[in-house]
Parts: sequence; C-alpha cells; structure tokens
Amino acid sequence: MEAWAIRSRWVVLCLLAMGGPASAGPDSDMAARRQAMVDEIAGEVRMTSQYLGRDRLDSRVLEAMGQVPRHELVPERQRRYAYENRPLPIGHGQTISQPYIVAIMTDLIEPEPTHVVLEVGTGSGYQAAVLGRLVDRVCTIEIIPPLADRARADLARLGYGNIRTRTGDGYYGWPECGPFDGIVVTAGASQVPPPLIEQLKPGGKLVIPVGSRFLTQQLLLVEKGEDGELRTRQILPVRFVPLTGGH
Ligand code: SAH
Repeated sequence: MEAWAIRSRWVVLCLLAMGGPASAGPDSDMAARRQAMVDEIAGEVRMTSQYLGRDRLDSRVLEAMGQVPRHELVPERQRRYAYENRPLPIGHGQTISQPYIVAIMTDLIEPEPTHVVLEVGTGSGYQAAVLGRLVDRVCTIEIIPPLADRARADLARLGYGNIRTRTGDGYYGWPECGPFDGIVVTAGASQVPPPLIEQLKPGGKLVIPVGSRFLTQQLLLVEKGEDGELRTRQILPVRFVPLTGGH
C-alpha cells in the first residue's frame, strides 16, 4: 500500500518535472492521440493484409490521417472518443466511418496530388478532409441538408479551400465537377450507380460498399481501364449506412 503511494507520488513528480499534463495543451494531447490512432490503423492493415492485397498503406495516406483533426468534425459529445478507431454517431441517424476504413478507402483509389476526386456521402466531412490533403480537388455530396451545411462550415473553418460541397443525391454524381480520377462512396448501395462509372476517367478507381440492407456489404474496388473496360475486386466485408435517395 505504502509502496504504491510512494510510486504514485514519484509518478506525479516525474510528470511535473516534464512539464506535466497540466501544461500540455489540448491540441498536443489530441495530436498524440491521433498518432496513436494512426499506429493502430497501420497494425490493423498488417493484420488484414490478405484482404487488402497490401501490408502497408501509402505513407502519404497515413500522414494525412495523422493531420486531419477528427475531433473538430464530430459532435461536441463525441470529441473525447474522436481518436478511437471506431465509427461515431454524427446525428440524423448517420455515422462518421471508422478511421481504418477511411484509410483503406483512401489508399485504394491511389490518390495523387493532381487528382480530382468525388466523394458521395459527406457526413461529417472527415473523409473529404483526408482526401483534401492528398489531391488537387475534392467534390463531395451529402443528401441530408443540415449535415451538408455543418460539414461545409466546418471544412471552411479548418481551411480546406480545395473541397467543394453540394447538397443533393450523390447517386447521380457531379458531372460539372468531373470527370474524376477517383470516387469514394461512403454509403452502402445495392449496385454500383451507372452515373458514377460514367464520370470516372479511364484509369480511374472507385470504391463502394455494395450489398443489401440486411446482408453484409462488400467493399468493392472498381477500376476503369484505359480502354474503358471495368475490373471489379472484392476487398472485405463492411457495414455502412444505406445510400438513400429517390433513384
Ligand atoms: N464520409 C462520411 C461518412 C458519412 S456516413 C464521413 O467521413 O463522415 C454516409 C453519409 O452518406 C451520410 O451522411 C448519409 O446522409 C449520406 N448519404 C446517404 N445517401 C446519400 C446519397 N444518395 N447522396 C449523398 N449522400 C448520401
């Protein structure tokens, strides 16, 4: 008992000597938690490498995940969980995806600094922000107006000037913003929407969860060859909120 008390006093002294948690601002605390999340993602990628066809992600993707302040894009109540590797509620029955899933979807489209990318399902704006750090321009569509408005305001506040947002049904894509080098759909569809295939450039890549509402969805990677031919690869089972809309 006494030894424990002495040890805990020693720990307190050490923390004080280092500057201690009292002087560690919330931002540096968040940055440390974010880095721990990135390390966890890298570990999970190694564990699931047989699904992904790779045992590590592009270092640029991990770097972007280490920079985007996820805690600034989730509701106040969820902030303390922002760097746990799991989905979180963002209101209106929707969720911000698990960071591991955001990382692999981003990696699968192989983003380049010159690329123009479409996201369907803006939600919190987090996936758009990660893409925004990696490509030239992101166009993102959200069907629920209050979520679209909040994400638009948050992304502007955080200085993401290369992300264009739109309120509407992303099933139809955004032809005036395209054609796209990559498309990321973050809601589960029953099929790959043909307008999105049309707006994908030759050589482009699209990731989308496909399946019925009641069965497990599969994350698909659709690649459009230079000759326009499509090649589809099933990546791994996932669970996303459904793609809604009148289509
Ligand atoms: N990418 C988001 C995850 C959002 S969850 C993030 O990083 O936070 C999926 C989102 O897709 C929800 O916000 C939902 O409202 C939206 N959605 C569902 N169907 C849609 C459609 N047809 N068009 C655009 N957005 C849609």
